[in-house]
Amino acid sequence: MSISRATVVYCSSLLDRLRDGDTLICGEGYIFELERRGYLSIGSYIPVVVLDHPHVVRTLHEEYVRAGTEIVEAITFFGDRSHLKLIGREDDLELLNRQALRIARGVAHKHGLLSAGGICSTMLYKPDDPSVVEKIRRMFKEQIEWAADEGVDLIIGETFFDFGEARLALECIQQYGKGSPAVITLSASPSGMTFDEVPLAEACARLEQLGAVVVGLNCIRGPATMLPLIKEVREACRGPIACLPAAFRTNDQMKAFHQLRDLKTGAISNPVELDPHIASRGEIREFSRQLKALGVQYMGLCCGARPYLIREMAEALGRKPPASEFAPDLSRLASKESSDFEWSTKQYMKHILGIEDPDLELATL
Ligand SMILES: [Zn+2]
Repeated sequence: MSISRATVVYCSSLLDRLRDGDTLICGEGYIFELERRGYLSIGSYIPVVVLDHPHVVRTLHEEYVRAGTEIVEAITFFGDRSHLKLIGREDDLELLNRQALRIARGVAHKHGLLSAGGICSTMLYKPDDPSVVEKIRRMFKEQIEWAADEGVDLIIGETFFDFGEARLALECIQQYGKGSPAVITLSASPSGMTFDEVPLAEACARLEQLGAVVVGLNCIRGPATMLPLIKEVREACRGPIACLPAAFRTNDQMKAFHQLRDLKTGAISNPVELDPHIASRGEIREFSRQLKALGVQYMGLCCGARPYLIREMAEALGRKPPASEFAPDLSRLASKESSDFEWSTKQYMKHILGIEDPDLELATL
């Protein structure tokens, strides 16, 4: 008996699924998407939406699940003590974290998927300042303890610019995460190095040796410029690797989406004029196939991700998530039932598409 992937209930743990050679999709980019929808600000990027409009967060998670994500990550990116202090809401810290974790876990478990807690680059790290390192350790500890307490299936440490901070995050997950598997990703910088000057592939290999279940790269680079770097990571690491680029059309001259320039004015597009640079559906589909061929077992999209792009990723892996019900389907346009529309169709072809002889064109379909 065959079981449809769309209906199967995933009960396996992250470790079991990776061991089985499965590929997991983790849709991210929540902060950018919630900003686009009007629920948080560019600049501070703090997810106050979790407290102020929790139903919006729940709905967004549901949309991602519908599109094919299998790991539902709590939206706690920059939901740490220092960032909340920045906007005078430090007192809301624990509530924001617990609420984000409960929403994510609720959606994940409703669909038989995996829920994840999340910590990220604090933007405070200074390699040679023990007091800062200790401060970050305390910040990681409290967020990890809340995540473990709320019963997540794994904890993600992501977007680290420094190897030292990534290693600290891993240590803290191992120490305070009550056995939660750790997924650690580094920011895919244009230089290919961490800020503390470790080549990214080497940094991933070292994190793997230190016990991270999955290591890899996320954000900063788009698919086109992420691909060569993730190949290096694949060669350097033995176990499962993660790849979650930003969903923007980066290139060899502008490897990071922060470097992209407006095609008309030449001005830097980040952070408010990035929409013209969003990767296309076809690019994400092809990129996902390439990742699969490389043996990347944990893939997703970061900043710029949208549910329809996650659906492309899922379909590229041969899956049919619920949102595939409404995937593009142009077949009806040429069906017999559409004969009522024939006249208008030909007019459209002639006047909008500029096709001189629509009858001839249709005959070749
Ligand atoms: Zn990102």
